[in-house]
Amino acid sequence: MNSQDNYFDSEFNPQSRYDNLEHIEPEFWKKKKLEEMNKEEWELLCDGCGKCCLNKIEIKGKIKFTNTHCRFLNCNNCLCRIYEHRFEVVPDCRDITIEAIREKPRWLPKTCAYWLLDNGYDLPDWHPLITKRADSVHQAKMSLKNRNTISESGIKNYENHLIDWQDL
Ligand code: SF4
Ligand code: SF4
Repeated sequence: MNSQDNYFDSEFNPQSRYDNLEHIEPEFWKKKKLEEMNKEEWELLCDGCGKCCLNKIEIKGKIKFTNTHCRFLNCNNCLCRIYEHRFEVVPDCRDITIEAIREKPRWLPKTCAYWLLDNGYDLPDWHPLITKRADSVHQAKMSLKNRNTISESGIKNYENHLIDWQDL
């Protein structure tokens, strides 16, 4: 692991990802395929929306999102509280890999930068790589911040929590 693996620790300041990008190739996401990106570029693509941490269920071959989120998600900043240990602690936590991005049925939100780029779309104008501001995803109301979500703890029937948000 390198220092970037601390990105989502509770003391991590998300803005620090965008304050020193001089060494990053401008608009690299327009010039490289996902497979060609280095680890830093790959990590920068994540907009920090937190929507991949919503619980989902598959119904008739389609992924349905619920308004329940992983108990380790901090919905105030949409960061994972256990980022470095997430796969050990949460067996269901998914790594964002090329295979996961292309998985069918789609389980990532349709605003996810990885899914967008892999499907021929550009980054939205609110993406932090465009604005150079980590909070632009929240200001654009594209993250889980200030949404009607609840922690999964104690949830017995996820079907009672299905949602149909336009950005999922
Ligand atoms: S949905 Fe995509 S862009 Fe949003 S937090 Fe998850 S990986 Fe990052
Ligand atoms: S453990 Fe995984 S699913 Fe849970 S908040 Fe962290 S990144 Fe999201």
